[in-house]
Amino acid sequence: MHPTLAGDLAQFPELLQSARDFAAREAVGLDQRPVAVGGAAPGPAGLPEEGVGAEAALGWFGERWAPGFSGSAGPRYLGFVTGGATPASVAGDWLTSVFDQNLSGAGGSWAQELERETLGWLRELFGLGEAHSGAFVTGATVSNTVGLAIGREWLGERLGVDVSRAGAAALGPVDVLSGSPHSSVAKAMSVLGIGRDRLRKVPLLPGDREAVDVAALESALAELHGRPAIVVANAGTVNTVDFDDLRAIAALKDAYDFWLHVDAAFGGFAALSPEYSALVDGLDAADSVCADLHKWLNVPYDAAVQFTRRRDLQVKVFHNASPYLGVPAGEPDFLHLTPENSRRLRALPAWFSLAAYGRAGHREIVERNVALARRLGAGVEALPGLRLLAPVRLNVVCFTLAEHPTQERVDALARAVAASGETYVTPTVYGGVPGLRAAFSNWRTTEADTERVLRALAAASG
Ligand SMILES: *Cc1c(COP(=O)(O)O)cnc(C)c1O
Repeated sequence: MHPTLAGDLAQFPELLQSARDFAAREAVGLDQRPVAVGGAAPGPAGLPEEGVGAEAALGWFGERWAPGFSGSAGPRYLGFVTGGATPASVAGDWLTSVFDQNLSGAGGSWAQELERETLGWLRELFGLGEAHSGAFVTGATVSNTVGLAIGREWLGERLGVDVSRAGAAALGPVDVLSGSPHSSVAKAMSVLGIGRDRLRKVPLLPGDREAVDVAALESALAELHGRPAIVVANAGTVNTVDFDDLRAIAALKDAYDFWLHVDAAFGGFAALSPEYSALVDGLDAADSVCADLHKWLNVPYDAAVQFTRRRDLQVKVFHNASPYLGVPAGEPDFLHLTPENSRRLRALPAWFSLAAYGRAGHREIVERNVALARRLGAGVEALPGLRLLAPVRLNVVCFTLAEHPTQERVDALARAVAASGETYVTPTVYGGVPGLRAAFSNWRTTEADTERVLRALAAASG
């Protein structure tokens, strides 16, 4: 064994203690860290010939890189929909690395059963029934990709083509219909050989809405004259957190032949609150469902789940048959269900957080985030320099300058907000108007944080 490695083996507990001390300082001081860090990163160093050992590497990292890491896991980072990492999930994440299980299959470990237990908890949390089976993936983009891949295989079943063998081209042109799809849907279509240009945007409901007009969707389906299609319904759009009417869309299945995929990346968490759960009524009727965990469940990157009612088709797409793995029979190992072969025990951080805080704890995060978004929304309305671009439906505040919201002036506002170090919001365009969006999804955010954000927005726009 290399002597430095041997030394680290002997000092393993001490190293973990140092890393723990470092992590504890960062975790406790997270809300003092600048929310976004500017300035140039250090230039790349050369590959070390002789390493410095783990303890010195920790010191090197702490000096050279850590100062430039953002406080995006902290309470006032409101960019994208980011979430943080609950204490229990961080502990689970550390142990994932310590045990370093390969979740491709059972492999002489109970870890696969832990993933299944966690999937069962999440299925219940999202109000899905027993007909849905799931798997962990790295993020909602991959979850959407898996859902559409199963949908593509289903199209083959309808048209009498084995897509997993014959390829996507054997299907001919595929129609994917959606109202306000996330950009990852087009990416998934590119990956799957369906093609980005096959995404057909269906008109939205009138007014300030991002939800699909179900009557327009019905017309678009009717125009296909019986040709099966894929419909992507959206449960939580990124600008205004609008929800398609999932029940009404599912009801169209009686008359039209389509695969219903629901992108519920973060909106699915509305199911946790009796006050908002009606927004995701009908989710269980979906053929495939995407839900992110590194957003509103507040587990560390990277974690998401995908669910489907057609695991048989999923195995057709993703099975990995080889002489030593065999063809899956009975309950398939996870390597037969997702793009990955070897997989990390991504379920453990989620298992820890659900075990530690339960449904009630996670419901409180969701409800507090929504209340704080409404509070910020009301505050923004009251500021002379800003106005809302849309009502605050759930956890995102979409706003712009009260006067002359040109791209240039909104960009300058975004820069001024970021430069304050107090908060971070991301630019968007809504209804043709450049604006900014502040998304609440972090378990740590308080009323006091929200007041600080409001003061920062007032200063930057005043
Ligand atoms: C974030 C998001 C995605 C993509 O998620 P990743 O985890 O970044 O891959 C897809 N759909 C919606 C609605 C999202 O909010």
